[in-house]
Order: sequence, then structure tokens, then C-alpha cells
Amino acid sequence: MKIAKNTVVTVNYKLSDAQDNLIEDGRQPMVYLHGGYENTLPKIEEELDGKEVGYSSIIQIEPEDAFGDYDAALVKVEPRNRLPEPLEVGMQFEGMPDGDDGEEAMIFTVTDIADDKVVLDGNHPLAGMALRFSLNVAEVREATDEEIAHGHVHGAHGHHHGDEDDEGEEGDHVAIHPIH
Ligand SMILES: [Zn+2]
Repeated sequence: MKIAKNTVVTVNYKLSDAQDNLIEDGRQPMVYLHGGYENTLPKIEEELDGKEVGYSSIIQIEPEDAFGDYDAALVKVEPRNRLPEPLEVGMQFEGMPDGDDGEEAMIFTVTDIADDKVVLDGNHPLAGMALRFSLNVAEVREATDEEIAHGHVHGAHGHHHGDEDDEGEEGDHVAIHPIH
């Protein structure tokens, strides 16, 4: 089966930067719903469209097609007492950008801690980086009607619902599957 809109694609991958430093070894394959559902980067969908199981390639994606350029304006210094303790470098918090209503909440990562101040970086950890993906298509299947309606994959390695069908939870908005 060829990869086309409304197929579920399982891809083994490795992610490195443009200098071939490994970022993710992809021990868990990426499983996504193909066809513009923003389950993965558009450039990856473009590369895999029309391909079949066994297809492999290496593509490099520039920052503007991945997680954007690094924006120094998204780095904030905050008084430490505004944040919960214990604090550690690498912790992430959800917050709103300064003073703007109606903007989407952003994830801030703690990048430095001093006695009374904390540096928060609102850039995606992969912002400003060219990303090199080594891709290998492991499985292609038709999506179920339910998956198409939800806009994401269900089942093994995919999205799991609880007892209640709780849409919109964290995880639905991750642009590329396994970045921690
Ligand atoms: Zn669902």
C-alpha cells in the first residue's frame, strides 16, 4: 500500500542535527496519520507521500520548516519566587507570553537558576536547528473512520483514550512525535 491521505504510517527514524550529532535514536517508531493532520512535520509527509513499506531516505529540514528560528525575545528572567520549588534546570512550565491575551500558552524550559532569579526559555528545544531525519517506512495501513474523525492514530504506539473520550488533551498538539 502506498502512503496517501488517511493512511497510518509507521516509520523507524533517527534524528540528528546538520552535523550528524544524534538527537533522538527513535527506539520507538513514529506512528502518524498521513494527510495534513499535523501529526508530524509537513516536510516528512511530503517526503513519504506515495512511498511504500521499505522506503528509506535521509532528509534535512531547515529551521523554518521545523521548529522555527531561535528567538532571543522568548528568553525571560523571572524572580525565583514566582515558580514552584524544587526547581531544576530542564523543568518545563506552561505559561502565557507577557501581556498578550488570546495567544496560545507556551512551554518554557528552565535553562538557568540563580539564588533569586530563574531563566526561562520559550523556544522549542529544537528551534534554530536544521534537523536531519533518517527515515525507514515499516508499515502502512488504512486509517479507521474513527482515527480520521479524530485526526490522530489510535492503538499500539498511537494515541490512547481513557474510559471517557477526552479530546484535546496534551499530546494532541505535539508536532513531531517523540521529543522529550
Ligand atoms: Zn482519538
